Amino acid sequence: MDNNYLITGGTVLTVNSTNEIWHDGAVVVENGRIREVGPSAELEAKYSGMPVIDAKGKVVLPGIVNLHLHSGLIRGTAEDMPVFEWLAKHVDPKHRALTEEEAYAASMLCYAESLLSGTTTVLDMYRYMHRSADAAEQLGMRAVLSPYVADAPPYLYFETLENNVRLIEERNNTANGRIQVWIGLEHLAYCTPEAYRQAADYAERYNVGIHTHGEESQQMARDLHEKFGVWPVELFHQRGILGPRTVLAHCVWMEEVELELMARTGTSAAHCPISNLKLASGISPITSMLERGINVGIGTDGVKENNSLDMLEEMKFVPLLQKVRHLDATVMKAEEVLRMATIGGAKALGLDREIGSLEAGKKADITILDYRKPHLTPFLTGKYDNVVSNLVYSASGSDVDTVLVDGKVLVRGKQLLSGDTDRIMDHAQQAVEQLLLRREAFIPKDFIFPSSRL
Ligand SMILES: [Zn+2]
Repeated sequence: MDNNYLITGGTVLTVNSTNEIWHDGAVVVENGRIREVGPSAELEAKYSGMPVIDAKGKVVLPGIVNLHLHSGLIRGTAEDMPVFEWLAKHVDPKHRALTEEEAYAASMLCYAESLLSGTTTVLDMYRYMHRSADAAEQLGMRAVLSPYVADAPPYLYFETLENNVRLIEERNNTANGRIQVWIGLEHLAYCTPEAYRQAADYAERYNVGIHTHGEESQQMARDLHEKFGVWPVELFHQRGILGPRTVLAHCVWMEEVELELMARTGTSAAHCPISNLKLASGISPITSMLERGINVGIGTDGVKENNSLDMLEEMKFVPLLQKVRHLDATVMKAEEVLRMATIGGAKALGLDREIGSLEAGKKADITILDYRKPHLTPFLTGKYDNVVSNLVYSASGSDVDTVLVDGKVLVRGKQLLSGDTDRIMDHAQQAVEQLLLRREAFIPKDFIFPSSRL
């Protein structure tokens, strides 16, 4: 009997169907799953003798799901550039120069940063993802891996569908189901129509999902429309990849027909507000998606575009952008944002029966924040309850005290227990210095806008 804990004395945000909150509540974790959620006094009496995690002054919530991430090392090195120029001059040459060992260092760094800031599940798109699987296995992270597949010239140095399938065969549903492998496709400008059709076939054959980039740039959406006569999501539909197990990142420029298609096919969106702001992509129509019943989760994107993987910081930008988009302060409540960052992400990954809320029978993926901080004071319940508002608007990843995945304590007292943070940082530092040196050879002299190759 391991991984048994009584988390008690905290405010428990269950994120169940009625957003139930237990003040002075407890969560019983048994054999990696949630056995019961309820009042502290009752559960302390019922489960006396169980190891206790004292959550007094703390807030207990479902582990956060980061629905769009790229493991990476080049944080802060390519700033203030238009998205496709930035891809061509900095990011794509980096993908070309990357080695397996550097990929492992990047995933270790990004998963450590994620866990320490309260994220328990990531949907990661990267290269050499058998090494991302190693990192997730080692650190205890729950990870859905979707390799960067590209097959359109000149992007042949990315991952191949054959590699992706091999990764599915070797690593899907390993580590007690914590590691899952999906089909990953980079972007419409990076993949041929045939790649999409094959991806759809493989996804069905292996019963896995598909992750790809929806449109970020208005210019790219227009160029695609000019060339194909349809909008990007229509093109995805024609190529057979939309459905309830498909997650489209960004979805910034969305025509009515595209929203309808996503709603009708049950396709989910991964909203990445900070990346969209920093790359000047635009404001995604999240309220329009939610009105149509489209499932939306939240992602940070990578450290090269954000430059942080702090999902609590990310959550704040979601309602702020929608309020200013509508010039209406009543739009989008904090409770909706918390749902998107937990059960919304879980649903997009097909994992909402297992994670995403604190309910009996679910896997014990739990994040505990320390609210005994000046910036989280006052702590009010009842008529002036501010617990969820403070979570979305005032908290940050550095307030995360304890994190459990599969009932295992991975972070305690703000320290990573499943890895040596100093060694992970040192390894990442060495790796990026080598990577940047080797990348020099692949940086193009001239920039060619990718839609000219469509
Ligand atoms: Zn991305």
